[in-house]
Formats: sequence, structure tokens, C-alpha cells
Amino acid sequence: MEEMPVKKNQELEVTVVDLSHLGMGVAKVDAYPIFVENALPQEKILVRIVKVGKKFGFGKMLSIIQKSPYRQEVENEDLLRTGIAPLSHLKYEQQLAFKQAQVKNVLKKTARMPEIQVEKTIGMRQPFGYRNKAQIPIRKIDGILQTGFYRKNSHELVPIDHFFIQDPAIDAAIIVIREILQQFEVKAYNEKNNSGFLRHIVIRRGYQTHEMMVVLVTRKEHFVQGEKIAQAIQEKLPEVVSIMQNVNPKQTNVIMGTQEKVLLGRNDIYDRLLGKTFRISAKSFYQVNTPQAEVLYQKAFELADLKKSDVVIDAYSGIGTIGLSLANQVKHVYGMETITQAVIDAQENAKLNNIDNADYVTGKAEDVMPKWQKEGIQPEVIFVDPPRKGLDQSFIETACQMKPEKFIYISCNPATMARDLKVFAEQEYFTDSIQPVDLFPQTHHVETVMMLKQK
Ligand code: SAH
Repeated sequence: MEEMPVKKNQELEVTVVDLSHLGMGVAKVDAYPIFVENALPQEKILVRIVKVGKKFGFGKMLSIIQKSPYRQEVENEDLLRTGIAPLSHLKYEQQLAFKQAQVKNVLKKTARMPEIQVEKTIGMRQPFGYRNKAQIPIRKIDGILQTGFYRKNSHELVPIDHFFIQDPAIDAAIIVIREILQQFEVKAYNEKNNSGFLRHIVIRRGYQTHEMMVVLVTRKEHFVQGEKIAQAIQEKLPEVVSIMQNVNPKQTNVIMGTQEKVLLGRNDIYDRLLGKTFRISAKSFYQVNTPQAEVLYQKAFELADLKKSDVVIDAYSGIGTIGLSLANQVKHVYGMETITQAVIDAQENAKLNNIDNADYVTGKAEDVMPKWQKEGIQPEVIFVDPPRKGLDQSFIETACQMKPEKFIYISCNPATMARDLKVFAEQEYFTDSIQPVDLFPQTHHVETVMMLKQK
């Protein structure tokens, strides 16, 4: 066995030199990295080594010997422990600088394009209470139903009432719903043997409309007193316009299953974004931070500098928020998206907002794009807004062959964004600058927007 510079259970004093992309402090002992939760760069801390791996280890902070000037008081350490708000111990200005640095870092290391300018992260004035959606596991602990969040890298529930980054009306609703479920003696799911009944409470609340949707995710379909429970919830929470049951029988980390039904009211909620009305179904994607999504989209439109004659593609379109917000300014919008329900929402949203120059279809971006190319669609501007895994290489190649003037790339993962920039460069599309926008204050998540064009 190779000799490691530290041993398990060893206690030692270290200096934190960096913050990992997940927001953990990094200290080094003879170049061997040790990751420590709740530790900030420049801090001198006492740690106990809890895990020694081949290439790196983990330490638990026992005390801070010298504090960072950028540290701020954390309301509740469970917010760090669970990963709900892993940067909440860092002052907000430095969180924004951290995100800018993350982007610079991947540009240098992954894309090898250090010349691209990275702007200062656009932050929020009130960087908390912003999430319009919550997905909360429910478990029985010592005979009582508890809601909260899992401890990081585990499935052990840490009970939490104040989630800090969520709309406080959602926090309050979770407690009310939990108490009703307790009164009706609903059984909580038990992950170990895939038994029990209620797995998650999912809540969405329109930022402008305050309409609320509650989804009760259950293991089985048969829901004893399901309708009565729904009525009790609606009585206590008048903002609720939709209560759904989603059935997920599988032993899986994926929260929702395929089958769903209405327990009470509608199967959707509406919200308003950039002056337009949007219908949102349970499984459709909708940016969790509405005011910052508006900032992000406005930045995207500014970069696109659209003309009335432009044909626009809205790829990875969700419920059509991007394409429908700009449809009035252009000739035509084509959008595609894999989730059927989201595409139905997008089509419905076009009608709701009297837009008749937008077409949305179901399908993978990488499959739909070659079809549109064959049909002779010639876009001037292509918006792409993929999930964390980024763009498919063949999608980038096809899209570039269609010779748009510009791409607007919105990314929620700098690592895949940097990888994709290399593929764009092979097709002669480049960007000069990247704008991070903070959609997820107090967390390590980084959102960016940029414009790419041919030199
Ligand atoms: N532009 C929308 C949605 C962005 S989220 C908005 O701003 O709200 C990314 C979307 O891409 C999700 O709705 C997801 O369902 C969809 N998606 C995932 N993989 C895809 C693929 N291969 N092709 C097209 N859409 C995909």
C-alpha cells in the first residue's frame, strides 16, 4: 500500500486554498487534496480526516482558527449539510465572484479558450426565498411524518421547515400538508424495502399569479381517502388550484413516475413571465427563479438583436418561454422539446398569447434538427437551452451546417458548455464573451448565456 500523507481519524491544522465546484473548501497536505464542508479559502481550520481515498480525502471541520472575512452567519447548518444551500456561508458578493471564476476555470482547462471574456455574474437583490418549486421527500421518523432534505450523498432525511431559498409560501404549505397527511394517517414511503406509500410532496407556485400546484407522489395507485385529503389541503391553502397524484412504483432516485391523475381542481397552473401568460403542467420544465429567468432571457434577447425578418429556432424549448417571448419581434419560431406535455403546454401558450407564428414539436433536438434542415428551414438565430448534459455533438454539427447568423447558448453547466464550445469552434462558430447570471443564489449552480457567430 502506498503511504498517504494523512490517516483516517487524524486531527490536523490546515489552510484552505480553494473552493471546489461543489462549494467545498479544499486544503492540501503535500499536494494531497482534502475536501472540507463549510470551509472557505484563506481559513485556517482544525479538521479530522474522515475518509482517505487514492487521489483525495475528506475532512470534518472541528473548529475555525482563522476566519475568512467573506464568511457570513448561516441560519441553519443543515442547509450546508444537505446541499440545499451549500454556499450560504459565503457572502453573496463572493458567491457571484466564485461563479465567474468557475466559468473562467473551465474555459481555461476544458475548452482551452482562456481568451474568452467572462463578465461579472448578474446577481439578485434579494438572494433568498426565490425558488418557485420544491420537491420534498417525506419519511416517518420516530412515528411522526417528517419533511426535509437528504443529507449529502445519502438518503437519510434531515427534517427542515425553513428551506431558506424557497418561496416562503411553499415552506408554509409543506408544513400544512404534512400535518394533514399525519391526521389522515398516511404511510410514508420506506426506501429500504420499497414499502409504504407517500414518497414526495412536489409544489409549484406561480411567481406572479400565486397559483399553487401540489403533487403527491405515491408508490401505489390506490390512495385511501385521496380525495378527502385533497379537499382538506385546498381548504387550508386557498392558493392551491391543482392537486395531482403521481404514481412512482419504482425503487429509484427519479422523483416522478409516468402515471398521474387529478385529485382536485385543474392539472396545470399559470404564471406570467416577461408580460406573457404561461401554462405549466406537473412534468414540464419551468425555470425555478422567475425574476432572474427574466433577466437571463432579456440578456439573451439583447445578444440576439432580432429583426422582423428573422426565422428563429427555440431548441430545448420546454413550455416555450423563450420562443414565445420573442415571437412578436420575428417572422417565425420553430421549437422542439422531448417532453410531450411540455410541447402541449407550448402550443397552448402560443394560443393563450395570440401568437400564430410559432410551431412546437415533440422530439430530441438531435433528431428534429436534421429533419428541419431537409425541409429547408433556414434560421437566422438558434437558441439552445439544454439540460446539464449539454448539447449533442451531431446536433451542433447539423445546426452549424444550417448557417445561422448566431447561436444564443444558455447553459446550466459550465463543464458541458466548455466541451460544446470546442465542437462549435470546429464548425467555425465562436464567442467573445460569456455572461453568468445567478439563477441559483446560495448554491454552487452556475447559469450562463452567450452569443456565438462565425468570425
Ligand atoms: N427553454 C426552456 C426549457 C429549458 S430546460 C426554458 O427556458 O424554460 C431544458 C429542456 O430540454 C427541458 O424541458 C427538457 O425536457 C428538454 N430536453 C432534454 N433533452 C432534450 C433533447 N435531447 N432534445 C430536446 N429537448 C430536450
